[in-house]
Amino acid sequence: MGNRRDFLKNMGLFTAGGLLAAKGASASVVNHVPETVGEVHAGKEMGLQIYSLSQELYKGDVAANLRKVKDMGYSKLELAGYGKGAIGGVPMMEFKKMVEDAGLKIVSSHVNPVDASASDPRRAMIRKYSKEITPKIMEYWKATAADHAKLGCKYLIQPMMPTITTHDEAKLVCDVFNQASDVIKAEGIATGFGYHNHNMEFNRVATKEQQEKMKGNPFAAFMKVGDQIYDLMLKNTDPGKVFFEMDVYWTVMGQNDPVEYMQKHPDRIKVLHIKDRAVFGRSGMMNFEMIFKQMYANGIKDYFVELERMPDGRTQFEGVKDCADYLIKAPFVK
Ligand code: MG
Repeated sequence: MGNRRDFLKNMGLFTAGGLLAAKGASASVVNHVPETVGEVHAGKEMGLQIYSLSQELYKGDVAANLRKVKDMGYSKLELAGYGKGAIGGVPMMEFKKMVEDAGLKIVSSHVNPVDASASDPRRAMIRKYSKEITPKIMEYWKATAADHAKLGCKYLIQPMMPTITTHDEAKLVCDVFNQASDVIKAEGIATGFGYHNHNMEFNRVATKEQQEKMKGNPFAAFMKVGDQIYDLMLKNTDPGKVFFEMDVYWTVMGQNDPVEYMQKHPDRIKVLHIKDRAVFGRSGMMNFEMIFKQMYANGIKDYFVELERMPDGRTQFEGVKDCADYLIKAPFVK
């Protein structure tokens, strides 16, 4: 049975119609015939980071736009654009209702600590951490975690790196992450604090001793001196408090192998951002087959598709659909 099921799935013939018909009957979506490509392939449990849709998501009928996302085959969302109790300007509980009415589920959210007292909101994001600013950061996490608990969010993830240019700064930032996790858990989000990387986390910072050692070495400029910030983050954060959402594309851009990281840190990397330069599979840079294979081996359940701005004048919605189609057709995606 297993083989036949897999075979049919690989051939694109396994429609899981019966399963979905049963699911449709109990779901909150009433009078909705499950016959779109997305629903037929809903077994793939694809997640979408809504940043991928840019402002297009909020143009016109947001509820209808969310239904389009569901029809593409996505079932889970990771939010972006949270601020002052709203998502992209839509009051958050209204947004949650629209998401659920569309048959989607909010699973995760990206947020960066901001200084609520900053006079210029564009400069409110706290980039430079210090002992003095830490209480403001915790204030932010407390209110933000409370809101996200109301949204039913499983993960709360910081996507931007605070300033780290030395080992000491890395240690301070990691202490803040550990502390933030306690605050987040206390508000009811049991997974604690999550961190999402770009490529700058693979820059190296050297200790004075490491720099000293290289003095006078004529090959110093060609050698990798110091430690990658990502490795310092893994080392200096508490595994019981901080987990990692690895962005596989940015890891490759940081000249590292996401599969190797997943193999080395199966207990720390719990969520993935599946991403390419633009539409999946076109850059030739990403080995998604190996990434998904390792993801399943590690037992990672949640991943989110992310798409940067479309380079060719097509809409974000079109690009996000192309990415869904890529995953639906990929035999290595379960
Ligand atoms: Mg990402």
